[in-house]
Amino acid sequence: MSSALPFVPTGTPRGSSGSADSPASPASPVPALLDASSVDALRHDLDAARDLLVEAFSTARRPLSGITPDAAAALVAEVDLDRPLPSTRAVLDEVRDVYLDHAVWFHHPHYQAHLNCPVALPAVVGDVVSAAVNSSLDTWDQSGPATFMERHLIAWTAQRVGLDDTADGIFTTGGTQSNLHALLLARGEALAAGAELSDLRVVTSANAHFSSRKAAMVLGMGEDAVLATRVDERGRLDVDHLDEVLRRQRAEGRTVMAVVATAGTTDLGCIDPLASVARACRRHDVWLHVDAAYGGGLLTSRRRRHLLTGIERADSVTVDFHKTFFQPVACSALVVADRRTLRHATHHAAYLNPVDDVAEEIPNQVDKSLQTTRRFDALKLWTTLRTLGPDRIGELLDTVVDLAAQVREDLVGDPDFAVVPHGDLSTVLFRFVESDVAPATLDAVNEAARKRLYATGLGAVARTRHGGRTWLKLTLLNPATTLGDVQHVLDLVRGHAREALAATDRPQHTGEVA
Ligand SMILES: *Cc1c(COP(=O)(O)O)cnc(C)c1O
Repeated sequence: MSSALPFVPTGTPRGSSGSADSPASPASPVPALLDASSVDALRHDLDAARDLLVEAFSTARRPLSGITPDAAAALVAEVDLDRPLPSTRAVLDEVRDVYLDHAVWFHHPHYQAHLNCPVALPAVVGDVVSAAVNSSLDTWDQSGPATFMERHLIAWTAQRVGLDDTADGIFTTGGTQSNLHALLLARGEALAAGAELSDLRVVTSANAHFSSRKAAMVLGMGEDAVLATRVDERGRLDVDHLDEVLRRQRAEGRTVMAVVATAGTTDLGCIDPLASVARACRRHDVWLHVDAAYGGGLLTSRRRRHLLTGIERADSVTVDFHKTFFQPVACSALVVADRRTLRHATHHAAYLNPVDDVAEEIPNQVDKSLQTTRRFDALKLWTTLRTLGPDRIGELLDTVVDLAAQVREDLVGDPDFAVVPHGDLSTVLFRFVESDVAPATLDAVNEAARKRLYATGLGAVARTRHGGRTWLKLTLLNPATTLGDVQHVLDLVRGHAREALAATDRPQHTGEVA
């Protein structure tokens, strides 16, 4: 049975500088696969992709187009996937029309919404190479030296964390997977020590990321197995309360299999008191997982590395390189203090990583991973470190953390906005206020302002709940964003909020405090 590859039927003559729409030559179909015979096409296609990106990056005048979901859906639905286009150029033109013209541009200084970063240039180069070579990091016989490059980066990360040479870890697709993996290992340790699944609990702060709850769901414990401690006035885990919770759980016959401390909460950007949390975990003999998905970049900061003090006492640490290391998605890692704990994710398959491989010390990364086939996402971090070096990454991060501090300070003196005046990282929580307007009305006004701004495409801010009210959030991860850029976006928000307020029937003030 022959299974013909879906050749694109016609193609532009390769290497010619002819227009993209020149008549197709049926004799020279677009090569389908990358190999020795298609290197000219590779050059041509990468040139075309490069031209597209150069055009897009040099002309993107706003962070987004403001296209509505309905309009975007219609644009995409028009594409007939059964009728391929005649050339790479034509395909890329379509990609531009359907996607890039309406993409959300994280490199634009007025994009200030979520934890998305402009990407490090060397990382893009590394990612292109990784995609073309297509190594799979599951087993040695599919990855070769890539195995050791990934291990080298894990060892580098573990050393930056302050772990010793019993440490190890694995690249993952993101903080969500890293946290799931950490809790799987913690669960494995607890079960091995004789605990019952139904008695297992995880303790984290009320401000921790929701992925720990999701992990508990996946791990068969249910979301309710995750208990939240109180937080202090800055939003950090309250260690006295943690102590109390740990004591009470033990007294009631339950096993706390892990405490999850957060090094950089997603909204407030605050770092839990890692050293005292670590001491509490030691006292109660509980696994400490540090979710440094956001704050992990501080590992490279000369000025702020001290904010992570205590992280070296963790049993496991999540670091999202695709946040504060300026890497393209996906790039994340889980590192563990004791490599033996990784066995809880091991399964030996006869076709892939049989037990005799272990005896021969074949370096199979799949033994440590939740994934099987796995991209060489480590390569982009490698090319970034080899080009920029860690200090440059730390400086880029320090720039946005400095900016956020400046913005908070400025907002404290702005009568139109309330602001959360503290934070260790690069988020700013703020809220449009007006003295005689009820808080619930202001909730609606702030959300309306955010939506109106988004619809113009001129700026992007996020929204969240804090203290029972709707707040807006800036997440500053673009070192090219200036104070003036932030003021500009805040002025836009202010204008939209005033309009939204003018359009509401103002209820009488309820006496609540804004
Ligand atoms: C972003 C984030 C996560 C989730 O990471 P993903 O890479 O989005 O899966 C987990 N924890 C914290 C604190 C985060 O900020």
